Amino acid sequence: MRLIFFYRNMIFHPQSYTLADRPGEPFIDPAEIEQMLAETASPSLEQVRQVIARSLGRERLSLRDTAVLLNAEEPAARALILESARQLKQQIYGNRIVLFAPLYIGNRCINHCAYCGFRAGNRAAIRHTLSDGEIARETRALEASGHKRLILVYGEHPAYSPEYIAHTVQLVYGTKNGSGEIRRVNINAAPLSVEGFRTVRRAGIGTYQIFQETYHPEAYARFHPAGPKRDYLYRLTAFDRAMEAGIDDVGIGALLGLYDWRFEVMALVRHTNHLEACFGVGPHTISFPRVKNASEVDSRPEHLVSDDDFIRLVAILRLAVPYTGLILTAREPAALRDRLIEYGVSQIDGGTKLEIGGYSSDAPEQNLHREQFQLNDERPLSEVIRSLIERGRIPSFCTACYRKGRTGEHFMEFSVNGFIKRFCTPNALLTFAEYLENYADPATRQKGWQLIEAEVEKQTEATINTALRDRLTRIQSGEKDNLF
Ligand code: SAM
Ligand code: SF4
Repeated sequence: MRLIFFYRNMIFHPQSYTLADRPGEPFIDPAEIEQMLAETASPSLEQVRQVIARSLGRERLSLRDTAVLLNAEEPAARALILESARQLKQQIYGNRIVLFAPLYIGNRCINHCAYCGFRAGNRAAIRHTLSDGEIARETRALEASGHKRLILVYGEHPAYSPEYIAHTVQLVYGTKNGSGEIRRVNINAAPLSVEGFRTVRRAGIGTYQIFQETYHPEAYARFHPAGPKRDYLYRLTAFDRAMEAGIDDVGIGALLGLYDWRFEVMALVRHTNHLEACFGVGPHTISFPRVKNASEVDSRPEHLVSDDDFIRLVAILRLAVPYTGLILTAREPAALRDRLIEYGVSQIDGGTKLEIGGYSSDAPEQNLHREQFQLNDERPLSEVIRSLIERGRIPSFCTACYRKGRTGEHFMEFSVNGFIKRFCTPNALLTFAEYLENYADPATRQKGWQLIEAEVEKQTEATINTALRDRLTRIQSGEKDNLF
């Protein structure tokens, strides 16, 4: 509660919109977003500079400010946006990058999302829901590779009730593999009622994530012709119900390719503002997946986002909502993922398998009929980590804030002086050290410890430095789960 009070008073500047922010009520007005984009067309370099100065000064950008950045087409302005996002990311978050893996529980689905391999009418899809034994086997395989954070993913089906989802979450928490364990379980599942959200909250979920897909109501209707997901407003207000049920850790997102990406970025910021206005806390993370090939999906959407625009979009989000985690998944190829980390991405998945049951089986290659969409980064976790180390990034498996009851950690990272120094960097290093000691090959271990040493050197505050060195030594002698 203290955090929310702080958040409300320090950051939130109410903005007036045509649709007032009331829990459970619509808040996206497409005409208003289009108008703001039109009014800010062709901004001068000076206008772009002023907006960026606000962001670098740790001021939260307004929706109109965001529109200015989205409209910046001049090469100099675009370069400035990229450079400033890189600066902000480096100054505030440093070199940490959080790692997780998705675990697909089942692909039964009663919806007809035109882009998705799991959609009800797709007869080519090979359907399967993991049994309890298979969930445990998959979890152990993920633990054996070093993972500590999972997101469980479900199709939408009466079989995947809140009680069933809660059961699978608890099953994953309860499955250990030697000293391997999952310490944070997030979920990505269809919108629930308030009571349904209470049920999954009691199971101890971390983040509840769901994507609006497209915030544009007409485009939404085209891509979701039948099934419960047709109801745009029920999905749009899912987080309002989650918050009412006491889940204040939520992840929003848009599936890029269904409508104009500038509109979607504006709507993501508008959604953030809505949650802040109604509940005093914004989303924990934002996701921005691009539509990929999927089983029997024959037409490519007309609003495909180019790599260049994708990079701009990530940089603009970084500047617009600086205290929100940005997630980029293995839908994107490795080289692009590496670039986007520079501009603001803070969480990536590693060693991802989308095939249901894929972590504990040895399927040689992707089979789209068993998967939701095509994966473009198929590196195992160990390789993702090697590559991060080579770039001087600290792979983090940190779950400390969630387990110590410090929700809203990205916000605290951004706004509480010294928070990153005291908590985030030390905890990232401790979880990375634990990974190196228990899961890494000798060469990775050696390079990883060199990186840790260099980071510890940067900790100039004597008390933190000493405490950190002491804990790192304890991890080297076999201690686990040591966190600040
Ligand atoms: N069934 C639930 C739902 O639709 O909310 C759970 C999420 S679904 C399994 C995960 C997400 O994958 C979807 O919300 C959608 O954004 C994304 N997705 C679906 N098809 C995709 C595709 N062809 N390419 C990229 N992402 C896709
Ligand atoms: Fe089902 Fe979700 Fe795929 Fe839509 S996106 S068809 S709801 S699994």
